[in-house]
Parts: sequence; C-alpha cells; structure tokens
Amino acid sequence: MDDSCRQVLRELQMFLDGESADELQHIISRHLGDCGPCHDQVEFQREVRVLIAAKCTDCAPPGLMERVCATLWPS
Ligand SMILES: [Zn+2]
Repeated sequence: MDDSCRQVLRELQMFLDGESADELQHIISRHLGDCGPCHDQVEFQREVRVLIAAKCTDCAPPGLMERVCATLWPS
C-alpha cells in the first residue's frame, strides 16, 4: 500500500458522501481506475452503505460505519 492508497482510504467516507473537494474527487477517481485493491474497497463500502440503507433506514446504530472501517483497516 503506497501513499496514494492511504490518502484514498482516509478520504473514502467523504468521497462516498460526495463531500470531498472536487480536486480530491478527481484524484481518487483516477486512482481507483489504476488500483484494484482500492477499487474493491470502494465497491465494498458502497455495498455496505446500500445494505445499511435498505435494511435499517431508521435504526443504523451510531458508529457502525466506524466499526466497519476499523474492522477492514485496523490501524
Ligand atoms: Zn490504491
């Protein structure tokens, strides 16, 4: 995992929320085109979000995404 991967993973939640800066969105999108592992992580995160939105619209426990992230990327 190189520095750009770390940056992508750090910004991933913002990226998926569409809240990162335009330039960063662009950088991440380009990186995802080149980097299979990061691309897979993004796809997985998207699926998790869809699943959460579909299954517990009103009851997603606070901090769930943080726990999912901590499981995926233990620091
Ligand atoms: Zn990467």
